[in-house]
Amino acid sequence: MPYQNLQDQVRQYDKRMGWRDPSDHIVLHMAEELGEIARNTLREKRYKKEKFISDELGQEICDLLYLTLKLANNQDIDLNRQWDMMFSRYESKKSRS
Ligand SMILES: [Mg+2]
Repeated sequence: MPYQNLQDQVRQYDKRMGWRDPSDHIVLHMAEELGEIARNTLREKRYKKEKFISDELGQEICDLLYLTLKLANNQDIDLNRQWDMMFSRYESKKSRS
């Protein structure tokens, strides 16, 4: 997976913006973005009266992805390596249980 390119893009962007957020702040923002994803999903299920817009849900998912990449950068985590390890674990499962 091309996470290295995405991590580099986020690293360069944050550097250009002068942002050096600590990991705990990033995690708080991730929780906020997950709430926005939940709100959009509830709209789709008509739980909320607001109109569901697929592009808005996509943007919220990307907000969370950006913060995930940023957190990985903060912790010097190689997401390509972690993704491969995770997926090997998933593929070795025989069922959801
Ligand atoms: Mg957002």
